Amino acid sequence: MNNNITDFHTHAFADRIFERAMNSLKAGSGIEPFHDGSLSGLTASMDQAGIWRSVVLSIATKPEQVDVIIDWSSSIASERIVPFASVMPTDANAARDVRRIAAAGIRGLKIHPYYQKFVIDDPVLDPFYRAVAESGLILVSHTGYDVAYPDREGLASPERTARMISRHPDLCFVAAHFGGWEDWDAVERHLIGKPVWLETSFLAEMCEREQARRMFLSHDPARLVFGSDSPWVGQAEELARLRALDLPAELLDAVLEKNASALLDGAGPEA
Ligand SMILES: [Zn+2]
Repeated sequence: MNNNITDFHTHAFADRIFERAMNSLKAGSGIEPFHDGSLSGLTASMDQAGIWRSVVLSIATKPEQVDVIIDWSSSIASERIVPFASVMPTDANAARDVRRIAAAGIRGLKIHPYYQKFVIDDPVLDPFYRAVAESGLILVSHTGYDVAYPDREGLASPERTARMISRHPDLCFVAAHFGGWEDWDAVERHLIGKPVWLETSFLAEMCEREQARRMFLSHDPARLVFGSDSPWVGQAEELARLRALDLPAELLDAVLEKNASALLDGAGPEA
């Protein structure tokens, strides 16, 4: 049994804004959330699912939100809540903002190509990626398609993601949704076996079982981390789906506990 499970992909909002934020996200995705989007909603979900710690990801959609997110992230950090901040990667001050996140003692940041309107391997973003690598921060990005954007522009396709990470070998990059939401064949072609951390949310639910198992078993076992995308997915439900894949016990242990702890507690493999 795993007692120190880390969920590397959750969302929660400040008490003052969670109702408004959740309503607008619900309208965009058409998904009914599993809790109300507050920090206490998340904590109750963690207790119910047997999850020790959650990485709480924020996404800035305007440069002026960066400060608010840094302040809020600093205020909620605890043993069980690991907040990641956010910057607009296309903003002229992105590299400076990255350094401010590191100076605030925050462990990482999240970016989202669809909500923030960028293409993941655009060379314009290279100074931003270099700043993240130099600051020693963990970078999480949404990868693959997005349920709220049916046009499927491929802004963070597995092929583009692979191109970006090959240009930034020092970057500690965690690709959400196993490297490519609903683009699993391309993940298998371009990302499996590459030096990239893959976060598991949606894979077990949306990918065919044999392919999901094959990808788990073919990637570097030290570069896989469990994530749920709570509250859009239930933490207990996602955990049950992952366990139902019948992965070897040692690998499951690495995915649920060891690899996240290596990343967050600093004892991990080099990027
Ligand atoms: Zn998410």
